[in-house]
Amino acid sequence: MNVILFGPPGVGKGTQGERLGAEAGIKHLAMGDILRAAVRDATDAGIAAKAYMDAGRLVPDELVVTMIEDCIIEDESQDFLLDGFPRNVAQAEALDRMLALHGLSIDRIVFMDAPEKSLLDRLSGRLICRACGFGFHRQYSPPSKSGFCDRCGGALYQRDDDRDDVIARRLKVYREQTAPLLDYYQHKAGFRSIDASGEMQAVYAALKEAVEG
Ligand code: AMP
Repeated sequence: MNVILFGPPGVGKGTQGERLGAEAGIKHLAMGDILRAAVRDATDAGIAAKAYMDAGRLVPDELVVTMIEDCIIEDESQDFLLDGFPRNVAQAEALDRMLALHGLSIDRIVFMDAPEKSLLDRLSGRLICRACGFGFHRQYSPPSKSGFCDRCGGALYQRDDDRDDVIARRLKVYREQTAPLLDYYQHKAGFRSIDASGEMQAVYAALKEAVEG
């Protein structure tokens, strides 16, 4: 089962995708995480991507398409869940060409949506563990010990691009460049749409049903 998860920033793709990937035994390929690791390791791709990410803009297509292809074909026999890729129609077309080349296909495309107000709340209160990447929220799912991860004890931080000015840019980029993917995908076999505005457990149940049903 190969899956694409797409939707606006802050809708919960990362949290829900990680859980689904672990439970279903499929690799969770989160484009933002792959890029942040490249920035941290100061690879050529990471150095090229950093300024775009800091500004809340999309990293150029040729860079992200190559990076995701490497991850997909690293072990072609392993199913994958794409989170944060594709993010525009050109990337979706490149993905189709790449999958055809490798004899692979997508079984489910799940669109997760929530009103912009709740995306803003979720993004601006988000805290991430530096060690394991697990996400918390200052208000909705605070850690038991302030500043530290419940899972591994690592220090929590706020992503640079979760500042208000960058959030506004990311939401604008989403509306202009990523939302048109809905037209590209909604008539394809395997397309599902879920309401991701509820609480975490309910959204996960809806996602599971969309993928398995
Ligand atoms: P995310 O963690 O998914 O919110 O992504 C963080 C940032 O990484 C985005 O704001 C973009 O700058 C960059 N990024 C992630 N995925 C892509 C993509 N598919 N295409 C271009 N840039 C991306």
